[in-house]
Amino acid sequence: MSFQPPPGTDDIGAPQSHIWREVLREWETWADCYGYPLVMTPLFEATDLFERGVGDATEVVTKQMYTFTDKGGRSVTLRHEGTAGVVRAFLNAGVKGAWKGAYSGPMFRYERPQAGRRRQFWQVGVEYLDVEGPAADAEVVELGFRFLNAVEVAGLEVVLNSLGDEVCRPGYVATLRGYLDERRSQLCDESVSLIDSNPLRVLDCKVCAPVLGDAPAMKDHLCAACADHYAGVKASLDRLDVPYTEDGRLVRGLDYYTRTAFEYIATDLATAQNAVGGGGRYDGLAESIGGRRAPGVGFALGIDRIVLSSSRAPSPPVDVFVISETNPSDALVASSVLRSEGLRVDFDTEGRSVKAQFKVASRSAAPARVIVSDSSGPVGVRYGNDNIDLPIGEVAEWLMQRLR
Ligand code: AMP
Repeated sequence: MSFQPPPGTDDIGAPQSHIWREVLREWETWADCYGYPLVMTPLFEATDLFERGVGDATEVVTKQMYTFTDKGGRSVTLRHEGTAGVVRAFLNAGVKGAWKGAYSGPMFRYERPQAGRRRQFWQVGVEYLDVEGPAADAEVVELGFRFLNAVEVAGLEVVLNSLGDEVCRPGYVATLRGYLDERRSQLCDESVSLIDSNPLRVLDCKVCAPVLGDAPAMKDHLCAACADHYAGVKASLDRLDVPYTEDGRLVRGLDYYTRTAFEYIATDLATAQNAVGGGGRYDGLAESIGGRRAPGVGFALGIDRIVLSSSRAPSPPVDVFVISETNPSDALVASSVLRSEGLRVDFDTEGRSVKAQFKVASRSAAPARVIVSDSSGPVGVRYGNDNIDLPIGEVAEWLMQRLR
């Protein structure tokens, strides 16, 4: 029996999981700060939702979905992204007017596994629905940017583009298709196969990039309304001091984007996969899955890659290690008191020698020690060079002043 997890999946425990927990906690704080309440949707959905929502010519839908027939004969698919499910949930709730939701959880794609590209990976994201103005797009871009900065993603850059809408995109796509058609012989097989079905995706192809230098760019073909919207987003980002670069090649993988598209890149990440997140506006998505018109904007950020690219050193998992000179039960009770006062505490349950307990304490990396030498008297507290005896009820306050 092998104990390896399935290909493209990972077991993530301590010490690596310390940084995961910190990043996910930081995420909750930022989502909350921008007014995005938690929304939780199923890990699997009817396959049809993704085919209609994400687009049946996208790579994810054609090649990467984990799809199976359940015991009731329904075709279901493990979610490969959060947006379609959240928009479905929004439509199901029947709400009117601006609506916000933040999610966090695993996604599944049948990919060729490599560093930063997993078959099960973790995304956090937000969706802001029933909003049309460029200030919404700018708020969303800013939120991602501030969060990624807070978790110290090294070499962070924001890349921005506009993909137009149903008014101006068809004309642009026809122009692009003509341009690609003339260069068929210079393109890779994959790109040639996309010319008819999804020519925008050809712009994404790293292999073909050298021959596409003068390809027409969407931002030069925007209709007046889309050009205005794009200018509004950029002006707001300028006022917020959120730096960005524009890239006419940024098309994003999923079909549903309209107008604003953006990505967050960790330029210092040493893997081939350096996009830590991306998003955009999807004004037609709610209708394409059979609902009412509900324009929206959102992003998804990949926590696996954020953890890889974060230069933040995780803080120690516990504040205090309690050592008992009597028995583990006294350490348990002292730990319980300290925990109830908000400290993070661990101790040895196995009745080892005091010396052995100190060794376990060092391994735990806890910056403070509390030494219990009788069940009712004061305890010894050690923190750095400080060494003091205190009643157990006064330890938390004394330590908090030093730890926080
Ligand atoms: P997407 O939903 O494709 O726009 O991806 C948004 C973000 O999720 C990307 O920028 C990555 O950080 C992350 N991501 C997407 N696919 C994977 C994957 N297979 N493994 C790890 N992270 C991923």
